[in-house]
Amino acid sequence: MPVADLPKTELHLHLEGAAPPEFMAGLAAEKGVDLSAVIEDGMYVYTDFPHFLQTYEAVSTVLQTPDDYRRLVEAVLRHSKSEGVIYTELFLAPTLTGTSLADWPAYLDAMEAGADAVPEVECRFISTAVRHLGADMARETAEATVAHLTPRLTGWGMGGNEALFSAAEFAPAFDIAREAGLGITTHAGEFGGPESVRESLDHLRPTRLGHGVRAIEDPALVDRIAAEGIVLEVNPGSNVMLGVYASLDDHPIDRLFRSGVPVTVSTDDPPYFHTSMRKEYADLARVFGWTRAEFDAINRVALNAAFCDAATRARLMTRFEEATV
Ligand SMILES: [Zn+2]
Repeated sequence: MPVADLPKTELHLHLEGAAPPEFMAGLAAEKGVDLSAVIEDGMYVYTDFPHFLQTYEAVSTVLQTPDDYRRLVEAVLRHSKSEGVIYTELFLAPTLTGTSLADWPAYLDAMEAGADAVPEVECRFISTAVRHLGADMARETAEATVAHLTPRLTGWGMGGNEALFSAAEFAPAFDIAREAGLGITTHAGEFGGPESVRESLDHLRPTRLGHGVRAIEDPALVDRIAAEGIVLEVNPGSNVMLGVYASLDDHPIDRLFRSGVPVTVSTDDPPYFHTSMRKEYADLARVFGWTRAEFDAINRVALNAAFCDAATRARLMTRFEEATV
């Protein structure tokens, strides 16, 4: 079996960033919105990072109602299924849906319905704060999140511009989520260096880090992450497309893995980065010589770090092991 066909667990996937271009083009056509400048030949187009953000924003404006989000979740999970993903966690951003946080419950309920339509992919949701909107908005987002928990909403995290604000300012928001029993992750160590990772670990106390790859620049930090068992949600294709590393050959995922750091593999915003889970697996096999043993190891790490209950984890592990025998 080619490694790209193995069953996969994905922990780091932004809902809007995973939107299949053909789905968004269809939704835009229904609404009479012209996206021809940003979707060409079934691909999102952009020239550099600022243009990427503009394209992302232009596409996201088409998502207007709870029902649009229901259909989006269904489209994303159908795509995940086609990539051989058996378990995925989707980052949701309550500040991006509707006109205020008061609209959030209706959107989340619609997204649950979208996930119900694709039972073949076990799915959980991670509510996220947007770092560059500041600590007050993060706290309000956490409060809105814990006030309306649904069966799949099991995690809390933070994305956005890592260069803004100190991690410590966001501790109150993370405390609210942790006290409500949510699993905790945060983006760090993507554009920020080891200090950003260390601050996030100290103040936000996540069990996982989104990216975290730049920890490699500090051997003591690598040792700490390995010793504490902090799981890295690594997105190699995303890092290369956004210029964190010049090429996959330069990417530290293999060195982190060999150092005993629990690493996993995800796609972040796959159609924007012209990647997919199959492509990530194939690329890692080609560049680092990863075989089934490495992919089995990272998938076990991912399932053990998943924000799901013990019974679901056990069922998934069985499904995974049966498929890999
Ligand atoms: Zn991300």
